[in-house]
Amino acid sequence: MRAYDAVVVGAGFGGMGAAIELKRQGVDDILIVEREDDLGGTWHVNHYPGLAVDIASVTYSYSFAPNPRWQRVFARGPELKAYAEHVADTHDLRRHMRFGTAVESAEWDAGLGHWLVRFSGGEAVHARYLLTATGFLSQPKKPDIPGIDDFAGTVVHTADWDDSYDATGRRVAVIGTGATAVQLVPRLARAAADLTVYQRTPIWVTPKLDGRIPGFVQRLFAAVPATQRAARAVNTAVLELIMVIGVLHYRRARLANRGAELLARAHLRRQVRDRATRRALTPAYSFGCKRPTFSNDYFPAFNRPTVHLETSPIARVEPDGLVTADGRKTEVDTLVLATGFDLWDTNFPAFRITGRDGRDLGAWWRETRFQAYCGITVPHFPNLLSLNSPYSYNGLSYFSTIESQMRHMGRLFTELRRRGATTFEVTDEANAEFLDRMTERLKDSVFTLGNCAPARSYYFNQHGEAALLRPTSTHDGKRESTHFPLESYTYA
Ligand code: NAP
Repeated sequence: MRAYDAVVVGAGFGGMGAAIELKRQGVDDILIVEREDDLGGTWHVNHYPGLAVDIASVTYSYSFAPNPRWQRVFARGPELKAYAEHVADTHDLRRHMRFGTAVESAEWDAGLGHWLVRFSGGEAVHARYLLTATGFLSQPKKPDIPGIDDFAGTVVHTADWDDSYDATGRRVAVIGTGATAVQLVPRLARAAADLTVYQRTPIWVTPKLDGRIPGFVQRLFAAVPATQRAARAVNTAVLELIMVIGVLHYRRARLANRGAELLARAHLRRQVRDRATRRALTPAYSFGCKRPTFSNDYFPAFNRPTVHLETSPIARVEPDGLVTADGRKTEVDTLVLATGFDLWDTNFPAFRITGRDGRDLGAWWRETRFQAYCGITVPHFPNLLSLNSPYSYNGLSYFSTIESQMRHMGRLFTELRRRGATTFEVTDEANAEFLDRMTERLKDSVFTLGNCAPARSYYFNQHGEAALLRPTSTHDGKRESTHFPLESYTYA
């Protein structure tokens, strides 16, 4: 059986960052396994019309791989995919990648001191280190609505978009009003003969300060990289302000949170003419309980006579339309599922992982609490770096999480080398201290003190804990990644 130094699961930005860090640490015998047929993760899988990032691209990118040629403030999907390809090429990652291979399970072999990683086709490999970078939003959720399988028209989930689909002249239903629908609805609204948007929970939407980045700015970024670093620093500070002040320090800064809410309300008032539609589009939960988004063209779509907002719950799907709880039927020929992703039921972890003494990670998380030291390592799971763990997502740009985790890896692997060791495992004590600290921090946040019950937010798990986001500033997260006590781990 082939034995690797490390197996990285997932070839998105997280897995690529982890592989780059492994190489920096001198670990080069790496296999990056990816279930899709190309790299890029989210930016490969998603290609629905309107797809773009809603964190400015100067920040939504690796700090060590700046791209002075971003075309827009908020890059569109294809540009991000191209950026992922560029990073893979410049860091020589492609030769490590194997596509179309799903991992089925991984099991720690204490005797041999490595992981046995099984693929769905039956093949297996050994790995001294296992790094899971399977994403948070990677298991599409199909709604369990009666009759949905009998729909006779076109059904498409946004994460499985059919590029040949043309909405022109069609009668379309969109289920869901999350960040994805906010991007897709304006596009469908322009083309469809009739569009009905089925909303269960409205989303807070603030203006998007988007636009083309002029050529002279691109040239400036290329000629004087410090200018792009400065732009990144300013943007990061603004994001930090929104997240840390408005969401995490809600106890002391309710006003900031309220300010964001007022901005979103004013945006809605300016953009939607009909008062009843405005009311229906206004969330009943506190800003930040659920991921808000940015858009300038979502709300105006509802001014079109051909676009309808439906807030009555969907009772059932019939072969030619949808029937709501109040008995009304809307005939459609296309059903778009903008219903998001399953995080807590199928994604933590994304496949079966069995650690020391037969501990099953998924079962243990569900029987105890969702937890991971610094959002990256778990007791009883030696040599596992679980990059999409509870409390790992730090800040609004995913790249702040990725780079903190890379730093954490750097400190850990440096210590392993210094000791001449090959195995690490986080201690129960360090893990418990971290979990207690996160639990304590959450008490100040909007998740505890705000009105989050009506939000139906995926930030909360099945136990009602907001265990996805790490409730610290990205500055604190970064500091901890380079200063965590080395005694938090045992080494062998
Ligand atoms: P989402 O935020 O989870 O939204 C899913 C939507 O589908 C919600 O409105 C949900 O309603 C609705 N829904 C799900 N099941 C339903 C059912 N059975 N009946 C009726 N409605 C149902 O998913 P998403 O919009 O795909 O976005 C996921 C995340 O991806 C975002 O939060 C964001 O982090 C990321 N994203 C980012 C960007 C970007 O620009 N960077 C763009 C798109 C997505 P409830 O809220 O009532 O459950």
